[in-house]
Amino acid sequence: MGSLDSPFPNSSEVQFHPLDPEEFRKQAHQTVDFIADYCKNIENYPVLSRVEPGYLRDCLPAAAPHEPETLETILNGVRNDIIPGMTNWLSPNFFAYFPATVSTAAFLGEMLCTSFNSVRFNWLASPAATELETIVMDWLAKLLKLPRSFMFRGTGGGLIRGTTSEAILCTLVAARDRALEKVGKDNIAKLVVYGSDQTHSTYTKACQIAGFLPSNIRSIPTLADTDFSLDPVQVMRAMKADVEAGLMPVYVCATVGTTSSTAVDPVKDLADVAERFDTWLHVDAAYAGSACICPEFRQYLDGVERADSVSISPHKWLLTYLDCCCLWVKKPSLLAKGLSIDPEYLRNKPSESKSVVDYKDWQVGVGRRFRALRLWLVLRSHGVANLQTHIWSDVRMAKALEALVAADPRFEIVVPRRFSLVCFRLNPPGKFDSVDELNRKLLDSINSTGRVYMTHTIVGGVYLLRFAVGATVTEERHVDAAWKLIKEKADALVGKI
Ligand SMILES: *Cc1c(COP(=O)(O)O)cnc(C)c1O
Repeated sequence: MGSLDSPFPNSSEVQFHPLDPEEFRKQAHQTVDFIADYCKNIENYPVLSRVEPGYLRDCLPAAAPHEPETLETILNGVRNDIIPGMTNWLSPNFFAYFPATVSTAAFLGEMLCTSFNSVRFNWLASPAATELETIVMDWLAKLLKLPRSFMFRGTGGGLIRGTTSEAILCTLVAARDRALEKVGKDNIAKLVVYGSDQTHSTYTKACQIAGFLPSNIRSIPTLADTDFSLDPVQVMRAMKADVEAGLMPVYVCATVGTTSSTAVDPVKDLADVAERFDTWLHVDAAYAGSACICPEFRQYLDGVERADSVSISPHKWLLTYLDCCCLWVKKPSLLAKGLSIDPEYLRNKPSESKSVVDYKDWQVGVGRRFRALRLWLVLRSHGVANLQTHIWSDVRMAKALEALVAADPRFEIVVPRRFSLVCFRLNPPGKFDSVDELNRKLLDSINSTGRVYMTHTIVGGVYLLRFAVGATVTEERHVDAAWKLIKEKADALVGKI
C-alpha cells in the first residue's frame, strides 16, 4: 500500500515524452510509408470486408499492454488484424453508397489540422482558424455561385460541421426558436416540419432531437413520374391542412441529389411555398452540391438564393476526406439565438466587441477542429479547374456504365441518371416470379466476390441496384471490369443473351 504522501514515483524514475519531435519525425515517416503502401496495394484487398461479427476480439488481447509496444509491432497489427476487417472505401472498385473522396492535399491539411490541435471555440482561441474558415466558406460559396446573402462578404455566413446531420439540426433549432417566439414556448407541439419520403433519414432523427413531435414530421410521398422529387403542390396542400388544423408549418427540407436515387427537388417552387407560409427552407445538397461547381450542374441549385440555409458535404465528392460538411445560413444571428453560450471562463474583449465570429455559438458543441485547413489545401492545391475535371470524369464514367446497362436487354435503368449514380436492375423479359429476389441474389453474388462493392435501395416500391461512381482512384477500366462482373453474375442467374 502506498502512503498518501508519496502516491507517485518520483520524476527522475519516469522517462516519458509523448511528443518528442525527433521521435515524431521518425514514426510519422514510417506511418506515411505504411499509408502510401496501403494506397498502392489497395486493389489487392477485397472491397467489402469478409470478417464475421466479433472477429477482432479473437485477434486482440483482453487488456491494454502495461509496457509500451514498438510502432513496427503496432503497424503489423494494423496490417494483420485491422485491414482485413476494413471495407475499403479507398478502393477503385468501391461503388456503394456515395463514395467518400480523398486527396493528398486533404490528407496534408488533416495533418496540419491535427498538429495545431486548436480547440478554438471562439475567435481568440485561434484567430487564424476562425478567419480561415470564414474565408474558405466564402470561397466555396462563390464557387457555387451562392448569393452574397450567404457570405460573410455579404450579410450571411457559413461554417464547417462534421456531418449533414448536425447542419440540419442547427438550422432546425433556429427555425424552431423563431417560431416559438411567435407562438410561445409551450407550443412546440404545434410546429410542423416537411420533407419527402426520399429526404435523408437523418432529417427525421434531427427533427426528433430538436423536439418536434414525430406526428408533426410530414413525409410527402414521391412518384416515379416526377423522378421521386418533392412535389410543391403536395407540400402546399399539407401546409394548408395543417394551418386549418391549428398547427404551424416551420421548416421544409429540400434535397438536391437524394441519397437513394439523386432526385432533385424543385427548390424554386418550394421557395414559393415556403415564403407563402413563412417557413424556413433548407437545401440539403450533401452529395450533388459538389457537382454544382461545374456550370452544367449549377442549375440544380437554382432557387437556393431564396432558401434560408444550404449544406453540402465536400467529404462526399470534393476530395476532402471525412468529415467536412459546409453549412451556409442567411441569418447567423438566428443560429446563435438557440445555440450561444456565454460562460465567464470564455469571456474576452474581441468577443464582447462583437467584431469577431465565435463559432461555438453556431453549432452544437463547444470545441471544434480546424477543418478549414483541409478544404483550403484542396482548393489551393488542386485549383478549381482540376476539381471540375474530377467531377466531369466521374460523371463521364457513370454515363458510360449507364450506356452499357441500357444496351443489355436483360437490364433496365430504373431512374434517369443525373450525376454519377446509376440506378438499374436486372429485369429479363417474362421469365421470373420475383424480380426483387433476382436482384438481391445478383447483388449478393457480385459483392461476395470482393472485387466490387455496390449497394441497393428501394424507390417507388422497386428494389434497385445503385452503382455510384466516384471513389478517388476509379478509372474507366475499373468500371468496365465491374460491368463485366455484373454481366457474368447475371449470366449465371438468368442465362446469356
Ligand atoms: C449522405 C447524405 C446525408 C448524410 O450526410 P452525413 O454528412 O453523413 O450526415 C444527408 N443528406 C443527403 C442528401 C446525403 O446524400
